[in-house]
Amino acid sequence: MNTEDKNTENRKYRIFDMTWLEVKEWLQKTDTVLVPIGSTEQHGPHLPMGIDSFAAYHVCIEAAKQAQVPVAPLIPVGFSCFHMRPNEPGTITVRDETLFNMMYDIGRSLIYHGFKKIIYATGHTSNAPTMDRVVRAIKYDTGAIAINYAADTEVFAELCGDLIDGKDQLPGWHAGEIETSGAMLFCPDLVRFERAKLSLPQNPDWLPEGSAKKSGSGFQFYYKGYPVRAAFDQYEYSEAGVAGNPLLASKEKGEKIYARMIELFADFIRGLKEVPVEIKKREFPEMV
Ligand SMILES: [Zn+2]
Repeated sequence: MNTEDKNTENRKYRIFDMTWLEVKEWLQKTDTVLVPIGSTEQHGPHLPMGIDSFAAYHVCIEAAKQAQVPVAPLIPVGFSCFHMRPNEPGTITVRDETLFNMMYDIGRSLIYHGFKKIIYATGHTSNAPTMDRVVRAIKYDTGAIAINYAADTEVFAELCGDLIDGKDQLPGWHAGEIETSGAMLFCPDLVRFERAKLSLPQNPDWLPEGSAKKSGSGFQFYYKGYPVRAAFDQYEYSEAGVAGNPLLASKEKGEKIYARMIELFADFIRGLKEVPVEIKKREFPEMV
């Protein structure tokens, strides 16, 4: 997926597979580049640790082909501290500042070589707060346009409501209907569907009376209907590491949902490509 993709068409868009001559050719055609970022974190007993990374890569490579832009190597880890579960091993998390530095340095390297618009696309919602800081720092330090694009199911759930069945069962949350449908599309060999089961969040013991944990978010709950934020660990509110109903998933749904997501993303990229940008600082002296 990241280090290898045998699809010959995809290879033309992957900076990882190019020589500098091909990168130079791309720079004559466009100043826009995609940077996919995912996670390595548990997604219940039925999905692989890398599902957010598979999703980000799939959305980026397909949108890149439609919008004619190159794709930087995938960052396959993210901010996943609340998915560290004592009895369900495998999650790898990086600290906010590690993720910030990784994304920032990748952006600055691409700008050094002539790119002017850096579109980070995440398959994991919890990378977004760090990405907000990265795109702001890139803008202020270089003048480039940097974008924090959500290629994840939580955010997209609102835009594909007509394509899903479990509307009251957290379709876009962790390892639920949308995410499992996507996995059946782009990494079907890694889905252990026989282990999939419905699981919805429970209130952690310490929440005061009147509170409700209604999503798979590691950050948000409601108090008498009002949204409040805190730091949850997933094992406090989710028994199986799933928030939603994966039993409603299918490959056909995955195809429709992701086709819509990719088309929207490709339209956005095409629009951004046309915007003129002046870089005020291309050099990258902070690289050492
Ligand atoms: Zn996920």
